[in-house]
Parts: sequence; C-alpha cells; structure tokens
Amino acid sequence: MADDMHTARGNMRICVIGGGPAGLTAAARAAEKGATVTLLERGERVGRKILQTGNGKCNYTNRVLTPECYHAAPESFAMKALALFGPKDTIRRFRELGIEPLELRDGYFYPHSGQAASVLNALRQACETSGVRMITACEVRNVMKRGDQFRIRTDRELLTADRLILATGSRTGAGKDADDAGLGYAEAFGHRVIRPLPALCSMACAEKEFFQSVAGVRVLAEITLFLDGREADRAAGELQLTAYGLSGIPVFQVSRTAARALSLGRKVEARIDFLPDAETLASGKTVREWLDERASRTGAGTLELFGNGLLNKNLWNGLLKRSGLKPGGKTKELTDEQKDSLLSSMRGSRFRVIRTAGFDQAQTATGGVDTREIDPLTMESRLVPGLYFAGEMIDVDGICGGYNLQWCWTSGEIAGGLFR
Ligand SMILES: Cc1cc2nc3c(=O)[nH]c(=O)nc-3n(C[C@H](O)[C@H](O)[C@H](O)COP(=O)(O)OP(=O)(O)OC[C@H]3O[C@@H](n4cnc5c(N)ncnc54)[C@H](O)[C@@H]3O)c2cc1C
Repeated sequence: MADDMHTARGNMRICVIGGGPAGLTAAARAAEKGATVTLLERGERVGRKILQTGNGKCNYTNRVLTPECYHAAPESFAMKALALFGPKDTIRRFRELGIEPLELRDGYFYPHSGQAASVLNALRQACETSGVRMITACEVRNVMKRGDQFRIRTDRELLTADRLILATGSRTGAGKDADDAGLGYAEAFGHRVIRPLPALCSMACAEKEFFQSVAGVRVLAEITLFLDGREADRAAGELQLTAYGLSGIPVFQVSRTAARALSLGRKVEARIDFLPDAETLASGKTVREWLDERASRTGAGTLELFGNGLLNKNLWNGLLKRSGLKPGGKTKELTDEQKDSLLSSMRGSRFRVIRTAGFDQAQTATGGVDTREIDPLTMESRLVPGLYFAGEMIDVDGICGGYNLQWCWTSGEIAGGLFR
C-alpha cells in the first residue's frame, strides 16, 4: 500500500508559486513525499523576506500558542491547522534541518546562530536535497485549470501540473515593485479575497505638536483603540513615541484593527495609559496621592520639576501642556481640578489616529484569501480541487512573536502534503 502511494506521488507534478517561507516549506515537503516539484519565484533569490525577520535574527516560532495569537475568520481556522503542525513540530523539523533552537524572552524562538540566513539556508538545502526545481527571476503570466491539469504560463515556458500551490505572500517588506498578482490568481479561480491592509505597524496621529515634543520616548503603557467611540482593541507593552505618532509592539498588535477601520472611513482614536501599573505605585500610594504629596513638598518649584522621577521629562512636559499647564508654572498654584486634569492626561490621553504605516513598513498583512473557502486540514481550495494555499496570502495574521512565520510553516507543511 505504501509503495502504491509513493508511486502515485512520484507521478504527481506540483507547481508552487512563491519562494517565501511558506512556498519553500510546501515545496520541500511535497518533494520529500515523492512529488516532482517546480517552484517559481519572481525575485532574483528565494526567501528574501526571511532575512529581514526578527531584526535579521528570525523569530521563527513561539512556545506559547493560544487562539488569541491569530486573527482569522472563522477563529477556529488557524487553530485547526496549527493542531496538525504547531510550534513543537516546527522546532523538531528545523532541528532535523540543522537549526538548533534558542529560546529567548519567555517563548520566542530564534536559530542558535542568531542569523535569519541560517533558516533560509536550511530551507533552500531541504528543497535542493529533495530535488525541487527552483526557477528564480521568473514572471508568471497567467494560471488556469484545464480538466484536471493546471497550466502555468511564465515568461519562459508553459508548465503543467496536477496540483498548484499558491504562496505569493504579501507586499509587506517586499520592495516597491511588489504587487498582489498572487491574490489575482486566487480571484481568477473564483476565490473571494479580503482586501489586504498593512498590519503589525506604527500609526500616525493628528496631534503633531505633542508627538514632535515627545519623539524618542519609550514608556511602558497600555493602548486602547476606539472605533467611532467604542472600545475595539487593547494591548500593553513598551510604547515608542515618534515625531508622527505611535509605535512599538503594543501599537503593532492593534494596528490591524486601526487599518481596517480607517479603510472603512471610521473614526479611530487611541487612548494611552502612561501609568498602566500604577493604580498603586511601589510606595503604596495612588498616583493622585503621589501628586498631592509631591505638590505639598515641592510647592516652591516649577511644574516641570514636579513630575521629576515619575515620567520621562519630555513626556511629562507634553502631558502638562495637554492639560493646559505650563512647565514653568508654579506647583503651589496647582488646583485640585488641574491635578485631576493632569491625572487624566497621564492615565487616559486620547489621540486621533489618521493612518497606519504602509506595506513597506509593516511586518504582515491582514486580509487575503477568504479562509471559509479553504479546508484547514489540507489547505486545499473548497472551490477548485487540486488548488492549495499557503502563508500570508491566506486571511490569517498573527500577533508579534514568531506567529506569522509559524503560520507559514504550518500552512506550508499541510499544503505540501504532510497530512495526505
Ligand atoms: C521586516 C519584517 C520582519 C518580520 N519579522 C518576523 C519575525 O521575526 N517573525 C515572524 O513570525 N514573522 C515576521 N515577519 C513576517 C514574515 O516575514 C511573513 O509573515 C512571511 O515572510 C510570509 O511568508 P510567505 O511565504 O507567505 O510570503 P513572502 O515572504 O511574502 O514570500 C512570497 C514570495 O512569493 C514571491 N511572489 C509573489 N508574487 C509572485 C508571482 N506572481 N510570481 C512568482 N513569485 C511571486 C515573492 O517574490 C516572495 O518571494 C516579518 C516581516 C517583515 C516585513
């Protein structure tokens, strides 16, 4: 029985379009299972984006896996697939390929070499060893299905295949010439595509004067996103204030919500709590008690000095101004009302989000091929037998922490045939 299967696979021709992490994974797995695999990549080299990941170190998976780590509709889609091939399988697979794991920051996995290039080399080697034919600098002109066969016309040849795996990723970090042609192929096969938008990116805000005065400040904070006045998303962590607005991991985490809402013309606001852990300060006092006590001790000083030691100086001065106070003003003249106003600026300043960063500055895309038309246990199209999808072009996006690459390994392994 096993031999028959192998013979059947040996006769099977599979074409993979896209040589990113998802396409390389699918191609290597399919070839290891005995198929004759051709991978088409439009760039000069495969896996260019892998080199950019994790600041060149490649955060390739994460030990922690909960449904909240992925955004997909229906929610169960990603988790069903991840149950077949999850982080443990990834670590094992990469170990087999010679990548020794290094766990940092409570669950974030990197190659021990500290180089994203190691991961790319391992994948390329897996493809080469298993006999994948890799064609780079290859422009796909069109794809179609005639009977049981897929026809893929490129700028140099006409290929036919029994199965077609689309793994064309997204425009994020892909350079100026990138487009969504791959999603166009999916649409040509009748698939619904949810408009891709940048995610895991920074956000520009309308309050230019404030942000220019606090640019460069990093602070532990909580961000709550409001859409048309209603709370919609929330994240906490190290916030980076920039001359144009908000950046840092918590901002990245909520940026997909902002991007989708802005694309629909909705009003997006970010409320920042600059003292999220300070309901009670280490001294046992509330922030309000701290303000009262400090006011009584430093009455003769300026308001600028008043906040010395609680918040970064530029941030404190910016918040004073947002509360209608002058840094050079006298602390002893501060009224209870003004203290309340200062407190609400520290704990709940609201900023108007006017846009998110573009694809060039984003780490992933939200949107893509509608998951309701894909079987999560095979990655096969529910509309076109023999058509498969892998990676970021599927409407699944993960939070920061190695989850997007994990999605590429998961969907690539499944599409490549690990479970068939
Ligand atoms: C700066 C940056 C840092 C990141 N860091 C991390 C991280 O540390 N951890 C993490 O989990 N994720 C990270 N990501 C996200 C991760 O890189 C992506 O989720 C992942 O690369 C998606 O892989 P993919 O194979 O689906 O698509 P891609 O990587 O986009 O690859 C798709 C490939 O298909 C090719 N292609 C496209 N269209 C065609 C066509 N028509 N014909 C032929 N070829 C085509 C493209 O040239 C490309 O090589 C980061 C992303 C960026 C931009």
